[in-house]
Amino acid sequence: MLVRADLNVPLENGAVADDTRIHASLPTLRLLLERDAANVRVCSHLGRPKGAEPAFSMEPVRARLRDLLDDERIEVVENTRFNAGETKNDPTFARELADGCDLFVEDAFGSVHRAHASTVGVAELLPAYAGLLLEDELEHLGRLLGDVERPFVLISGGSKVEDKLGVLRNLGGRADTVLIGGKMAEQLRDANPLEFDVVLPTDVVAAAAFEEDAENGVYPYDALPEGWLGLDVGPKTRERFAGELAGAKTIFWNGPMGVFEWPRFADGTKAVAEAVAAADAYSVVGGADSIRALNELGLTDRVSWASTGGGASLELLEGKELPGVAVIPEA
Ligand code: ADP
Ligand code: MG
Repeated sequence: MLVRADLNVPLENGAVADDTRIHASLPTLRLLLERDAANVRVCSHLGRPKGAEPAFSMEPVRARLRDLLDDERIEVVENTRFNAGETKNDPTFARELADGCDLFVEDAFGSVHRAHASTVGVAELLPAYAGLLLEDELEHLGRLLGDVERPFVLISGGSKVEDKLGVLRNLGGRADTVLIGGKMAEQLRDANPLEFDVVLPTDVVAAAAFEEDAENGVYPYDALPEGWLGLDVGPKTRERFAGELAGAKTIFWNGPMGVFEWPRFADGTKAVAEAVAAADAYSVVGGADSIRALNELGLTDRVSWASTGGGASLELLEGKELPGVAVIPEA
């Protein structure tokens, strides 16, 4: 068996800093072993190395996976991005990965928006199937694209504004309420390119500079001191957003409300995470930083689905075709 898993985890000092994605890959690997796969070759990319940089070796991932699932039939091959053919979807590299395998299982939801050798190339060489994680992701995120229970509240923030506008366009028009925080709010306040109204913050925690310990205070959104930056949503906005979320039956949250990495600008994100977790709703959270905020607050188990794929979840919700899914006949 060849399995494309998403083992692209954050590393710190040569060790795995967060093993969420390794855990999420286990059900498919366990199933294959239970069903007597003779050998399971697992491949994944890790980070963005320029060539075979030792700092991006799969060794720490291999070690962590072995701690969680020790079976001699599993082989984790080296970082697919060590081979220049990976991102070019080079058939020679795809053949190398597929060599000796009978079937391909795509389970790397976080990578299916890319047409690479390990996501698309190998699926054209071997009979290809969706793994359990990929299936779950498609089902949970796909639910947001169908008939949802209302009110449907969409809440978006973060800093990658361009990436998120596509999702807002496709999904926002179908939502009953669209709440906007983060850097996103600044852009939409200046000019809203969307065809529907959004709820913007009324107050913000602003700082004199983009620094963790800069002088800061709470201001109405339209009365920031000259040159100051809005780095979190203010208390009135938190209350308003939490109220909307409390009444929702379907929620999609993507993007933190502020610079939550700095405790003084974390309250808005915390309030939203708590409101999403507490809502009696079908709640889906996407985006690496949003999931990190949820994890840090210990709330991940209280949402209906925390997506492991950042870019892939956004592209799916934008309505784009995902090349790594399109190539699987039954997915
Ligand atoms: P996600 O990973 O959940 O999709 P993004 O990557 O788009 O979210 O954004 C996360 C980042 O946005 C965080 O690092 C956070 O510090 C930053 N951020 C949030 N609000 C602001 C803001 N008002 N100004 C600058 N950066 C912000
Ligand atoms: Mg991010």
